[in-house]
Amino acid sequence: MKILILGSGGREHALCWKISQSELCSQIFIAPGNAGTSEFGENINIDINDFEAIKSICISNKIEMVVVGPEEPLVNGIYDFFKNDESLNKIVITGPSKAGAQLEGSKAFAKSFMEKYQIPTAKYKEFDVSNFDEGLEYIQNHPLPIVLKADGLAAGKGVIICQNYVEALSEFELMIQQSKFGDAGKKVVVEEFLDGIELSVFVLTDSKNYVLLPEAKDYKKIGEGDKGLNTGGMGAISPVPFATDHFMKKVTERIIEPTINGLRKEGIDYKGIIFFGLIKVNEVPMVIEYNCRLGDPETEVILIRLKNDLVELILAMDEQKLNEQQIEIEKNNAVTIVAVSGGYPEQYKKGLPIEFLYLENPEARRHIDDGVGALVFHSGTKKLNEEVVTSGGRVLAVSAMAQGLGDAIELSKTILEQIRFEGIYFRGDIGYEFVD
Ligand code: AMP
Repeated sequence: MKILILGSGGREHALCWKISQSELCSQIFIAPGNAGTSEFGENINIDINDFEAIKSICISNKIEMVVVGPEEPLVNGIYDFFKNDESLNKIVITGPSKAGAQLEGSKAFAKSFMEKYQIPTAKYKEFDVSNFDEGLEYIQNHPLPIVLKADGLAAGKGVIICQNYVEALSEFELMIQQSKFGDAGKKVVVEEFLDGIELSVFVLTDSKNYVLLPEAKDYKKIGEGDKGLNTGGMGAISPVPFATDHFMKKVTERIIEPTINGLRKEGIDYKGIIFFGLIKVNEVPMVIEYNCRLGDPETEVILIRLKNDLVELILAMDEQKLNEQQIEIEKNNAVTIVAVSGGYPEQYKKGLPIEFLYLENPEARRHIDDGVGALVFHSGTKKLNEEVVTSGGRVLAVSAMAQGLGDAIELSKTILEQIRFEGIYFRGDIGYEFVD
């Protein structure tokens, strides 16, 4: 079967790697892809929100399955576009529908959904220009810190945790009155701050059944010890030591199942990934956010632990037969460490040549066998003539697996030390809370 993967990051490179192992897959196309994905198939340079262009690629290449990496096409309704078009509606596509993608596309929708189905989350209220003054008063009477969230997609920047009232009131004003995040911030969710440790839980659902994928913990701050600015993600580990069976039972009963049942009750077509951004407050799991797709860099750490054929899982999702699938997960510990360009997440250079010195080192282990080894996934890279150069802030993600987390981290770092580009930086402490 011919498969099209949409997206261009480390997540999509990891999806290519995983999907290429399926006997059901005959050829992979990636739009637009990066230098790494081109090793697995043909990169096609189009905009992932240009549905007409995607349609013509599907028709001319006889695509039978589309795997959507990022959230934007989903929030813009790519699933519905396929289902409503006679020439596309036989193609298997990972969703959700536009209505389902609102779980990520609108924080206000997600909060009211959780309230309706009694899914544990932070207390909140939503405001826009019509009740702006009420919002100012609400903030002034709210305990600190206060969390402000732009309702819509804001390129991962729409959440502001305010430590004082001056900042909270001014950010609130900037979002609603000055369109700081454009239309995405016209509505603002103001919520209580939850203090705890975060983890990400992923399920694949067919609207009726679901399978639980490996969980992960990601590291968002640029600096070691979780200091400095927020990034798209500097690394991740899986499994998460505190996600015990006892804790995951609570997650399943209080969060996953009420979410899937709630979507069904709402009549929402949801065939795809639900990413639960959770926080453990004391021993209680609560939802920080929903996403409607896999995370990056979490994908790079969870897919190396998933033993199942991903194409088979997606076909079972399409046929609403996920109840017939048994998930098999590698027990060993996995880590992914992201190498970024100097200056990221602020100003950084692009077009820097990358040297992959490990390619000349026969000792370097660049495959995973029996739960041990390492893989290099490209995030922001492209080919320029025959050279691979940087094309983004997050450049590469090096995933590794071993019996112990410490050994997996060492394996990943050994490869990272054999990668060179000007200003390369990675966090040396990913997983630090869990290794001696
Ligand atoms: P989001 O875009 O909703 O994932 O938020 C980004 C980050 O902000 C999360 O990963 C959390 O670290 C933090 N965050 C969001 N909401 C809260 C909250 N209510 N309490 C504490 N931290 C939060």
